[in-house]
Amino acid sequence: MMDPNNPTAKPLPRITPDNRPFWEACRRHELMLPWCDPCDRPHWPPGPVCPFCFGGAIAWRRASGRGRISSWVVVHKDWLPAFRPDLPYNAVQVELEEGVRLTGNVVGAPNSALRVGLPVEVVFDDVTPDATLPRFTPRAEG
Ligand SMILES: [Zn+2]
Repeated sequence: MMDPNNPTAKPLPRITPDNRPFWEACRRHELMLPWCDPCDRPHWPPGPVCPFCFGGAIAWRRASGRGRISSWVVVHKDWLPAFRPDLPYNAVQVELEEGVRLTGNVVGAPNSALRVGLPVEVVFDDVTPDATLPRFTPRAEG
């Protein structure tokens, strides 16, 4: 969430009852996904019910943290003052091995290395004492 009193501060996750387990896991450097027990599959984003069966039997499970880039963009335009020092920066969508897609950034590689299908794995960035963001970095094939 953007801080209106500090426009050069980057937005931080907005914690809700539905997404709290995800962000708390990130602080422990673990990637967790909400799973519907009857459907036996994860979904994203977190919500009060499963988007496939509308049931409420949701449990959080540890995810592999591995996936592949399914979409990416390199931002060159100065849309937000907080991100000006990072220009040009990337934003990617990663399809995890579990099948859900998360949005994030790729770190540890130049923007010129980005491509659809690039294998990546999650890394954790402790951006404040209370907030840790998942990001992605290239990994070996397989
Ligand atoms: Zn379900």
